[in-house]
Parts: sequence; structure tokens; C-alpha cells
Amino acid sequence: MSASNLVAESVWKAIESTHSVNEEQLSVLHFLFGKNFEKATRIVDQRGVKKIIGEPSGRSILQVVGESRRKEEYLCFADNYCACYSFFYDIINRGEQLCCKHQLAARLAESLGACVEVKVSDEQLAVLLSEL
Ligand SMILES: [Zn+2]
Repeated sequence: MSASNLVAESVWKAIESTHSVNEEQLSVLHFLFGKNFEKATRIVDQRGVKKIIGEPSGRSILQVVGESRRKEEYLCFADNYCACYSFFYDIINRGEQLCCKHQLAARLAESLGACVEVKVSDEQLAVLLSEL
């Protein structure tokens, strides 16, 4: 894991433990993620992160709304996967960024407890996951 990943991890953990974010944490995240972090905070402010929870298993996946006018939604695992274009081209292929804005929004919303929870059956969740 890179140094910046480790720094990001420790900030996320701190936010998770208090469910709030202070000025210092904001500036570190901004330093690490730049414009993507600004976009992510806008998505979270708009309540754009849904946590889709399968019942009865309790397994979940996050769905993050995009910023374009079409308002597409991306299924996303905060740690290691997003279904968006940027994830494949900027992160997997070119290795330029740590993660995309949807992953950041997902992580931020989860850490703050700011996800909109949506309950579905485990079968519905399986269908969603099979489309990845
Ligand atoms: Zn993404």
C-alpha cells in the first residue's frame, strides 16, 4: 500500500469513529484527492449515495449517482471497484489516481453514516451484482 493510501486510510478511520469530519481531515482529503474530493462531497450533500441492503443476509452494495445530466448510478465498492468509465481508464489502466469520485463519495457517506438505505431481497441484490 502506498504512503498516500495509508494516510487516507487513517483519516477515513478517524471519520468513521466520530461520524463527523473536521477542518484538518477535510484539508488532508482535499490534498490527496483534489477535485475528485470536491465532487464527492457534492454527491454526498445531495444524498447521492445509496446503500442497497439485501435481506435477510444483510449483505450490501453502494450505489452512487453520477454528476452528469443523465444522473446515471454506479454500483461501487468503496475499497476496490466502481462501475464507471473513469475507474477503468484513469485508475486501472493508467494508475493515475487512487480512486474515482464515486468511490470517494461512497467512502465519505459510509464514514459519516450519510447513506440512504434501501432494502431489497437477496434475490434482487444478486441480480444487481450479476450485472457488474
Ligand atoms: Zn466511479
